[in-house]
Amino acid sequence: MAITESLITCSTCGATYRLTMTRLTFRDKDSINCEVCGALLKNWNEAKSWSATLTMRGTPPNKTK
Ligand SMILES: [Zn+2]
Repeated sequence: MAITESLITCSTCGATYRLTMTRLTFRDKDSINCEVCGALLKNWNEAKSWSATLTMRGTPPNKTK
């Protein structure tokens, strides 16, 4: 099974994730949201599955709490 890794940065809060791609034998439709601010990081509709591991926390733009 081929595994591809890449980095992605959240455009909203700047958090950095390591993306791991796993090839599937079926078509999958899913998405990943930022754990820090909830922004959409990646979505796909193909025979792959992505998982994101947070490597560096970002700063959410609105700290109202
Ligand atoms: Zn974010």
